[in-house]
Amino acid sequence: MCGVFGIFNHPEAANLTYLGLHALQHRGQESAGIVTSQEGTLHAVRKMGYVADVFDGAFGQLPGRIAVGHVRYTTAGGSLPKNIQPLTAEYRHGSVALGHNGNLVNAEQLREELEHDGAIFSSQSDTEVILQLLARSREPTFVERLCDALGRVQGAYSLVLVTEDKLLAVRDPHGFRPLVLGRLRNHPDCYVVASETCAFDLIEADKVRDIAPGEILVIDHTGLRSVQLRRDNRRFCVFEHVYFARPDSVLDDLPVYEARIAMGEQLAREAPVEADVVVPVPDSGVVAALGFAKASRIPFEMGLIRNHYVGRTFIEPKDSIRHFGVKLKLNPVPSALRGKRVVVVDDSLVRGTTSRKIVKMIRAAGASEVHLRISSPPVISPCYYGIDTPTRSELIAASHTPDEIARYLTADSLAYLSPEGLSKAVRGDSGTTYCDACFSGRYPIRFIPPPGRRQLRLIEA
Ligand code: AMP
Repeated sequence: MCGVFGIFNHPEAANLTYLGLHALQHRGQESAGIVTSQEGTLHAVRKMGYVADVFDGAFGQLPGRIAVGHVRYTTAGGSLPKNIQPLTAEYRHGSVALGHNGNLVNAEQLREELEHDGAIFSSQSDTEVILQLLARSREPTFVERLCDALGRVQGAYSLVLVTEDKLLAVRDPHGFRPLVLGRLRNHPDCYVVASETCAFDLIEADKVRDIAPGEILVIDHTGLRSVQLRRDNRRFCVFEHVYFARPDSVLDDLPVYEARIAMGEQLAREAPVEADVVVPVPDSGVVAALGFAKASRIPFEMGLIRNHYVGRTFIEPKDSIRHFGVKLKLNPVPSALRGKRVVVVDDSLVRGTTSRKIVKMIRAAGASEVHLRISSPPVISPCYYGIDTPTRSELIAASHTPDEIARYLTADSLAYLSPEGLSKAVRGDSGTTYCDACFSGRYPIRFIPPPGRRQLRLIEA
């Protein structure tokens, strides 16, 4: 769960990267970093915290016309300063910075092999394996060394890299995570890449196209060129459309907003309920709830108000904070709920802990009935490709039926969108095929379990 951004050929490269990262902040809130390149030297600012705080007063330290940026939420390695991205390395051919969104499934295995050969790692991040492989490659050019390194890694990776004179954007052969190419409206020779198109809107860039699965796009002063790594079956992450991406982004040619409206409409058709109001769980359930209200002709009410100054509850890695977080984040509106039969719409049900609190909160505010509708199928399997999901034993739907879950949540009824309904909702014009391992348990790439749990050996203040 991370966001990446890159820019080539702009006098204010760091500034625009900062703005791009602001738009991608929802993809990771633990740390942020920008690395710029100027006359053969890389300049980095990387810290724990929100984008707005990390770069306060830092632009003077980030000269150059090429930059890459990253916002991070930990899915591999600890939430520690040494794991903040973009990672940088100096090796015999020069310097390189790398930002990664995704998760490598064979990183621990490769790390063991590299350490056996004497490699020293300075982070716990799976991403560092790519830099180590790059430095060891005997190929003559940077792009060939990168192809060589990526030939050995498996899993999900959308990458941005910067060298002394190039910006590179790479998407893994399945295209699990999004990555788009854009161009600044007022600087047509300035190219940008980002995890989501919402980053382009802010900086007045237009989308050119998606980076293709398995593509390495190289941008330098000679222009753009592409190298194709290899292409496997396209498996774009359907959970990006369900939950993770911003609704104002367009992913693989399908607007997230349209997909979520269609999910809500389909859910209303599949699991209708007699009710007085449709209430979304803000912000994740808002668009699907609009679709539900539209298709069911039940009035839409903002019966829950979100405090925007608290981060996403689930995204705080510690359980104690997560439990406290629901109340911190959401408050019911009794005048919209009192005496009403309420349909609550949320995008997904994971552990069930948030939803249980929400159901109780709405009932305590005076609702006469509370029906929960989830605009995706039951989450039954963990994600190994970059979405933070708990272990299978914590996934409530992995071991309970919807009726059992409804009883636990204290809801009058619970229904999920069917897998077929979800496929229908995300069927854009692009013919994208999806990874739905979290809902189906069908994994496009086998996860290779780490040989042993890695101990923390250095914790920096
Ligand atoms: P739970 O109470 O565990 O079932 O959490 C469900 C809530 O978490 C829903 O409102 C989702 O929008 C949200 N959610 C789902 N997946 C994630 C994730 N990977 N990270 C953060 N929040 C999530």
